[in-house]
Amino acid sequence: MDEAVVSNPANSSNRHIITQEQIDDILANELQAFTFPVKPVYNPRIKDNGRTIAEMYKWGQLKRIVSIDIGKQDEPDREFLVDTLLHEFYEVEILEKQYIDDYYRALSRPDSKRHAWINDKISRFFKRLEGQP
Ligand SMILES: [Zn+2]
Repeated sequence: MDEAVVSNPANSSNRHIITQEQIDDILANELQAFTFPVKPVYNPRIKDNGRTIAEMYKWGQLKRIVSIDIGKQDEPDREFLVDTLLHEFYEVEILEKQYIDDYYRALSRPDSKRHAWINDKISRFFKRLEGQP
């Protein structure tokens, strides 16, 4: 079995402690419409803002998501944590679909291309949240 690790690396050395309660509150409010395959768990030991670990079949298909860890955050505000959680949500969506869907396969590599797509999805989410078209 192969393991895939996708992460949202920290860009700051000044990391902000959060709590599991903050994660849970966002999942129950801003992100209530988003279903995560496993519960995102706060893990202050990781060096990333967020990190998803998946088990992959040898032929490249997702077997299961093992964990979604949320680390200390680059920024202390709630919006940054929403962004981090959404980032992992869309990483999972790509892992689930890249083997069966040409559209997702095309955007899955390299990291820069995948992250541009994810960041676009996240900015659309925030525009909807603010009621912008
Ligand atoms: Zn990522």
